[in-house]
Amino acid sequence: MDNGHRAEASNGNLKQDVIIIGAGFGGLSCAIRLATAGLRVTILERQAHVGGKLQQIQQDGYHFDRGPSTITMPDAFRSVFDQAGVVMENYVQLYELEPRTRNVFADGTVVDLSRNRGWMKEQIAVYSPEDALRYDAFMDESAALYAEANRHFLGKLLLNPSDKYNLQMLRSLLRVRPTVRLDKLLRRYFSHPHTLAMFGRYATYVGSSPYLSPSIFAMMGHVEAEVGIYGVKGGTYLLIEGMTRLAQEKGVRILTGVEVHQIVTRHGKVIGVDTDRGFMEAEQVVANGDVLSVNRLLLAPEHRKRMSDARIAKYEPSISGFVTLAGVRRKYDQLLHHTVFFPEQYKLEFDDIFRDRRMPSDPTIYICYSGYSEEGMAPEGASNLFILVNAPYLSQAWNWEEQKYRYGEFVLEQLEARGIGGLMQSEVLICYTPQHIERDTLAHQGSIYGISSNSVKQTFMRPGNQSKDVQGLWYVGGTTHPGGGTPIVTLSGQLVGERLATELGR
Ligand SMILES: Cc1cc2nc3c(=O)[nH]c(=O)nc-3n(C[C@H](O)[C@H](O)[C@H](O)COP(=O)(O)OP(=O)(O)OC[C@H]3O[C@@H](n4cnc5c(N)ncnc54)[C@H](O)[C@@H]3O)c2cc1C
Repeated sequence: MDNGHRAEASNGNLKQDVIIIGAGFGGLSCAIRLATAGLRVTILERQAHVGGKLQQIQQDGYHFDRGPSTITMPDAFRSVFDQAGVVMENYVQLYELEPRTRNVFADGTVVDLSRNRGWMKEQIAVYSPEDALRYDAFMDESAALYAEANRHFLGKLLLNPSDKYNLQMLRSLLRVRPTVRLDKLLRRYFSHPHTLAMFGRYATYVGSSPYLSPSIFAMMGHVEAEVGIYGVKGGTYLLIEGMTRLAQEKGVRILTGVEVHQIVTRHGKVIGVDTDRGFMEAEQVVANGDVLSVNRLLLAPEHRKRMSDARIAKYEPSISGFVTLAGVRRKYDQLLHHTVFFPEQYKLEFDDIFRDRRMPSDPTIYICYSGYSEEGMAPEGASNLFILVNAPYLSQAWNWEEQKYRYGEFVLEQLEARGIGGLMQSEVLICYTPQHIERDTLAHQGSIYGISSNSVKQTFMRPGNQSKDVQGLWYVGGTTHPGGGTPIVTLSGQLVGERLATELGR
């Protein structure tokens, strides 16, 4: 891969068909689709490495993936390789996790999410026989929601008003009952706080609150149980490495350490980008960075009347994350690959995050322990733990400079109290706050998923994939349509790539 300096020497300002700003899942999948169609494509990435919010950290024999760890919907990744005419397994291998995620509740109850419905019902019946009886009905509703989303929402670009406002879409929208909130839908089936929290947590997969977001996210029950959760052999970052290798084989030029400072337009149309290595000319520009940041930072206000500062300020950003990477010379038999420790009262976490914009005083703590599934992720007899706590987006209400170490210790104490001891003695201990997410990826206010899905409008009318202000400017990634999370982001890149290839006549 080139870095900025080599780029300067070799780039020869040849006009590109498409310049892509950012090498996250969205940018890479879009680039592969475009290059497969024979287009000349360059990706410009400001970070030193590709991957966007997913980065690989290796230290003292410990291997961590910083960023996404729960990988679902493998077909979204597979189709990138299929469409490029290659076999995915020659680039990256996924393996299915069963059981999928261990849920540990404050009273010590444990539920391991599984594809096996009988076992799921047995585990739920231990604390709520009534909820166990309703499990099948809930899973049927979850499957129906997924089918609806898949048919009308996930696999399509909704670029024109006629794509969004037609009878078919309206019918589909009514079928997913947009005004019913996720928690309310769950209460039609379940009444025990454990079950409500376990399935309500799916709202956080899109950076939102189960008490505010629409019920459509109940579809994740089906996605996790029936479509599955997967590990990536060698670590999640190998998915990025596999896509990067494929992009390069297809002729995509990837320049890391190159920041775009301005999207350059003439008469309302894109003509290229200004970077810290100079001007680069392009027919079309695809922005993979956060839509709100791209508008705020790369376009002058007079060139973005439909995405003014006032409009940007009206959006509510999604959840961010506080991450601790712990490499510890100890084994934890009570952890699976994915383990979630729930607090006593789940709702308070979302009051803290969205209402008070403070770190939760009694947080849900998620641990990814990839060493559970694979040898070699940590030294012999040791564990590599990625520990994640949901965090509010950056605001004046919480000062990370003051709180980082105190809150980091608090999380480790909470885990100690839940039986995950010895973390204070970790050989590797690194914390990342929402400030790092903002600094590294230019995520708007450090949010992971762009805007939250805490309302019908923010869920179903995310900023679209085509700029309404600038001709030739497109958006891909988790902050635009169809939404956040690695498979959906990967889909967005492919959808825009497909459309652009057609527009450019390939
Ligand atoms: C802690 C954490 C945990 C997560 N857990 C999960 C999970 O378990 N499962 C899951 O599916 N998802 C998870 N996610 C979300 C997932 O990581 C994202 O949805 C996805 O990776 C976003 O990809 P993207 O392509 O939209 O953009 P990004 O990954 O944000 O990439 C955009 C890239 O654009 C670059 N860029 C921006 N502006 C410029 C510029 N001006 N010039 C040059 N480059 C620029 C940025 O540096 C960045 O590399 C998690 C995220 C985090 C942070």
